[in-house]
Amino acid sequence: MISSFPLKHRLIIAGLATFLTVMLLIPSDPAEASKNSETQSLEVGKRYSLAVPMPTETEVADATATLPQEDNSLEWVSVEVKKGDVLGHIFKRAKVDASMVQTLLDSGKDAKALTRLFPGEQVEFGFAAGGVLQEVRYNISNLKTLRIERGTDGKYVAKQLQKEVEIRTEVLTGVISGSFWNSALRAGLTEGQILDLANLFGYDVDFALDIRAGDTFSVMFERHYAEGQFIGNGGILAAQFQNQGQVYQAVRHTDGNFYKADGGSMRQAFLRAPVSFQYVSSNFNPRRMHPVLGKIKAHNGVDYVAPVGTPIMAAGDGKVIESAMKGANGNYVYVQHANNIVTKYLHLSKRDVKRGDKVRQGDIIGRLGATGRVTGAHLHYEFVVGGVHRNPRTVKLPQAEPLQGVARVEFTKQAKQYIAQLKAYERVQLAANQQ
Ligand SMILES: [Zn+2]
Repeated sequence: MISSFPLKHRLIIAGLATFLTVMLLIPSDPAEASKNSETQSLEVGKRYSLAVPMPTETEVADATATLPQEDNSLEWVSVEVKKGDVLGHIFKRAKVDASMVQTLLDSGKDAKALTRLFPGEQVEFGFAAGGVLQEVRYNISNLKTLRIERGTDGKYVAKQLQKEVEIRTEVLTGVISGSFWNSALRAGLTEGQILDLANLFGYDVDFALDIRAGDTFSVMFERHYAEGQFIGNGGILAAQFQNQGQVYQAVRHTDGNFYKADGGSMRQAFLRAPVSFQYVSSNFNPRRMHPVLGKIKAHNGVDYVAPVGTPIMAAGDGKVIESAMKGANGNYVYVQHANNIVTKYLHLSKRDVKRGDKVRQGDIIGRLGATGRVTGAHLHYEFVVGGVHRNPRTVKLPQAEPLQGVARVEFTKQAKQYIAQLKAYERVQLAANQQ
């Protein structure tokens, strides 16, 4: 019975090109999810395979190699845990004598795992010839298995076994049509990965207003497997975003931070947009009308149309120099930054900072609203350098420190490799999409 599981997984992995299938199979049960979070902390037993797995036969071969060896001399019975079950019920369904419950619980402290079963989980019973219970197996988590085995002396011994986590590299790539969010979901990215991607390039690209149909993105990231089964995504290793003909690249360094392929910093003094793109409705409106004056005005700021209550972030580190409610501005906040730069946020429904407050980049300073002279809810955002209004989305800004010395040399070597893999995969993927 149990041997049919691995086969199923082999078939699923064979169809890796359709990542989504795998995603949909991940249990969303909260109990399961919290158990899976162990993945993050596990550092031992990692195996890195950096070759980009193209969706071909090699992927299937890999998966087969990590499948556990089954002892075929035993006859296996698998019992599903039901709501309200006690161990006795489960043993009864496996046709195991009730007295075995205590015998097995006494087989070592590792056997305690049997007292914390969740509905939907499986307990597997292996019987030797003559119906003698030889072995019990239970998957404690994606990373741990309980095995209770009957020794030659007839005594049962419980052991918890750590599964080896294998890390594979995957690349997902897509072309934007419609919204970035939906295009990225279609390409197979998870919501978390989409937000990570937008954060990575949030210093270069205004994801709320500058995304265009035809823009492309590629993401190389880790996927974790235990015994051939997918158990969760790891972090992004490298990413590329092509926006209106401009190519932006980010590669993870061994210090966990991301840098441009040449070792330059991704981080800048200002975010391109003070609003997360997820809230902004007008993704494709290159020539916006001023909401009140009704004509295209060379107006001193950028308008972001989003629901009332949308969080507004400080674009950079600084100090609040005004936080008030007045006339056409409505509720507004001004922040003073280094280099004689001031950012202004107008028409807020709520202000979360007061004059004199220090703010860090990304801090919530208020909520989007429709106060002052407006016809609808929006954020009016201004970027003023030395008293002159500048376009916050195109102005050249000073960048944070790049990598230096040996770190830079090593990083750029690694980055070159990642970017080459990313591009190779992108070509394959885009060609496949055109057929
Ligand atoms: Zn405006």
